[in-house]
Amino acid sequence: MTFILGLTGGIGSGKSAATQWFETQGIQVVDADIVAREVVAGGQPALQQIQQTFGDWVLLANGELDRRALREHIFKEPAARQQLEQITHPAIRASIIQQLQAATSPYAILVSPLLFETGQHELTSHTLLIDANEELQIQRAAQRDDQQTEQIKQIIAAQMPRLQKQRMANDIVLNDGPLEQLYAQLSSLHLQYLARSETA
Ligand code: ADP
Repeated sequence: MTFILGLTGGIGSGKSAATQWFETQGIQVVDADIVAREVVAGGQPALQQIQQTFGDWVLLANGELDRRALREHIFKEPAARQQLEQITHPAIRASIIQQLQAATSPYAILVSPLLFETGQHELTSHTLLIDANEELQIQRAAQRDDQQTEQIKQIIAAQMPRLQKQRMANDIVLNDGPLEQLYAQLSSLHLQYLARSETA
């Protein structure tokens, strides 16, 4: 796989909607959020490392990660977050690379809400930001997840500011209209990406 598109955007910007459209065009997608969960699934080496580092209390009775307990621990001891990320980040990265390499579509997509924040954009050839103003982000995410506005605002505040992402992205799609408008913009980019993947 030579041409890899990194797709990102803040919560509620329309990343999933965009990703689903690319999938209808036959483009294979690796989702960094899913990979992050896979690498700490029961029996995975990263989970064993987490257990060795923090103790048996990180595991539930069924051998799965006790996410809540770990989250609370990290909240109380910020240094623990770094320890955890030293275990999970290399595992996530390795799995993403492996899955992207295995893709057989003309090009592949890595979708990640924290593409730039985590340096995952370095694994891609080109980046696309799905962009929407904060009001729309909140409205969409609240509708989708039944989440409180305050919680969504907190998530937005923890993500890289919109302006900075706009500066870093190679392409930007403003998703502030109906879905058809999003798809039309993606459609013209898709043709460009196909052309690039042929010459890459
Ligand atoms: P993200 O993955 O970036 O968090 P989603 O793609 O899940 O965002 O979009 C959030 C919600 O808003 C979803 O329910 C989605 O269907 C809806 N949505 C996204 N873009 C549009 C749009 N242009 N018009 C209407 N609804 C949209």
